[in-house]
Amino acid sequence: MLQQKTIKKAIHTVGVGLHSGQRVEITLKPGQPNTGIVFRRTDIKDSSDIHVSAQSVTDTRLASTISNNEVKVQTVEHLMSACAGLEIDNLYVDITGEEIPILDGSSSTFVFLLKRAGIEVQKAAREFIRVTSPIMVSEGEGATLKWAKLDPHHGFKLNFEIQFAHSAVDATGQISGFEIGRDSYERDIARARTFCFTKDVEMMRGIGLALGGGLDNAIVMDDYKVLNSDGLRYSDEFVKHKMLDAMGDLYLLGRPLLASYSAYRSGHALNNKLLRALLEQEDAFEYVTIDEKRDIPSGYGQFMNAF
Ligand SMILES: [Zn+2]
Repeated sequence: MLQQKTIKKAIHTVGVGLHSGQRVEITLKPGQPNTGIVFRRTDIKDSSDIHVSAQSVTDTRLASTISNNEVKVQTVEHLMSACAGLEIDNLYVDITGEEIPILDGSSSTFVFLLKRAGIEVQKAAREFIRVTSPIMVSEGEGATLKWAKLDPHHGFKLNFEIQFAHSAVDATGQISGFEIGRDSYERDIARARTFCFTKDVEMMRGIGLALGGGLDNAIVMDDYKVLNSDGLRYSDEFVKHKMLDAMGDLYLLGRPLLASYSAYRSGHALNNKLLRALLEQEDAFEYVTIDEKRDIPSGYGQFMNAF
């Protein structure tokens, strides 16, 4: 059977929030089976836990923000993406502020931390949401068209296409794919950094956003070129980062998907709309566990052992 996973011990780091510029401490702790991924604001006395779900996402402007009625945590997508990539099911995320630290703008530090804490296989079956009928959402038309789609697939793969009409972005690969089992999350996705344009940064700072952003945690571009002196980490780092984000956004469902995701110019808002559209169509998915070894999609359960 494919089992749930958590980490072996607590692990801690410190950083600043991309948008708030606020210094925060974050501690990742093991979770019992069937706990899911739970965020806890330790700076607010008696605040209730935030359990991830499609409905917990309450703001998708520039980042994915989750909240319950009382408190919020913003920019959760890179940490969620690392959890998706390493197949972590149960985890407590204790945080001393309202925004997950941006670190180097990718998910590689979260991957490093989770692996350093050690992956623990748990005595409970991993429950997937298997997509059984196609689901698609879209916005705009012509030059403003964006869409995102889920199709049935025994495993998990992504196909993403970007279109920014910017010379530095257009010079890189615009389309990329990733499949668990065929590719390595840690090698092929985790190091892709978030990116921004100087003209947008000035606008965002004017409204109190991107206060913690800079060349050490984002790819920054002016109207023509990348400003970071050491260039890009992947030849197609932009589309790779959009896939990193999408994996995090989709993992906010609270369970891993068995599906093929494809998207054109999608972002946090449309990714969440896709999850909600899926959940609304009850005959388009089912909850499944994978009990027989022969049914395990290739590449899953690398840490599996018998019990
Ligand atoms: Zn991102």
